[in-house]
Amino acid sequence: GGLGRRQTLARVRVAVRLRPFMDGETEAKEPSCVRAVDSCSLEVANWRKYQETLKYQFDAFYGEKSTQQEVYIGSVQPILRHLLEGQNASVLAYGPTGAGKTHTMLGSPEQPGVIPRALMDLLQLAREESAEGRPWDISVSMSYLEIYQEKVLDLLDPASGDLVIREDCRGNILIPGLTQKPITTFSDFEQHFLPASRNRVVGATRLNQRSSRSHAVLLVKLDQRERLTPFRQREGKLYLIDLAGSEDNRRTGNQGIRLKESGAINSSLFVLGKVVDALNQGLPRIPYRDSKLTRLLQDSLGGSAHSILIANIAPERRFYQDTISALNFTARSREV
Ligand code: ADP
Ligand code: MG
Repeated sequence: GGLGRRQTLARVRVAVRLRPFMDGETEAKEPSCVRAVDSCSLEVANWRKYQETLKYQFDAFYGEKSTQQEVYIGSVQPILRHLLEGQNASVLAYGPTGAGKTHTMLGSPEQPGVIPRALMDLLQLAREESAEGRPWDISVSMSYLEIYQEKVLDLLDPASGDLVIREDCRGNILIPGLTQKPITTFSDFEQHFLPASRNRVVGATRLNQRSSRSHAVLLVKLDQRERLTPFRQREGKLYLIDLAGSEDNRRTGNQGIRLKESGAINSSLFVLGKVVDALNQGLPRIPYRDSKLTRLLQDSLGGSAHSILIANIAPERRFYQDTISALNFTARSREV
């Protein structure tokens, strides 16, 4: 979907998901820092200050017992139909490393996350809408890239170098040279996605570290062509993004290259925060151009696009500071 049409501007919606305690740790050993108030708000106990709690409000709050299905049905599935109207959408998982971003986006074969669920639904929608006698013919394709230290890398073609982001005259964002694979079934998707996910870690010396320091960006495109002459064409883009970890490197003690990486990540997450704030406050200038990530999302975050940021948080006390900063990053409102 291009700009230029008159549309009501959509806010970036924000959901928070709290993961359960891990590794046999329980609430009994260590009280959770976070407490659900209702389906949209939560409280965080400030254990440094006696009896002080911070209360936050969001568009949705998913507690520690929430299922992959609940998160998907509640926050992601409703935006998919807009792709068929030629609008764009994005789903971003935010939060510190270890708080559940990859679980939420990708999940596991037993507990599939947002990505496999959205792909299944979109492929089925495309099949139904393209059926004989229907007005539009829809083809689905995917691209998969990584933004690492402000470089855009094609995960479906690891030999290619840093790619350039451009904007066409209608405000559509393009990446010339980015691989685009047609997919019609879920196994087509897996056939491209699984080896590419491995590419993502092969390049890394320390497996987890690379993946927590880059943004993994899956793009699913629906190309729609009307079965009439002359025909109309439209395109809907969906970005599914597992963001770099939001942890603060001053506390985690990163040094050298790690610190440099953290700097690049933190500044791109910082710009993302400014963009989301500017959109949600209706400011006239949105600083999309200040990072590669937000530049890429310029036509798919805010404006006529439908976007949701899912902040993942963890209940353990060692995550306390990261939890507070993730909530401050995303909160619609906060009361002390
Ligand atoms: P991140 O990608 O943010 O670093 P992960 O998704 O890898 O975090 O989650 C860290 C660990 O916690 C993984 O072992 C993951 O399976 C587990 N986990 C995360 N969220 C949940 C959840 N909601 N329910 C159960 N396990 C979870
Ligand atoms: Mg992860």
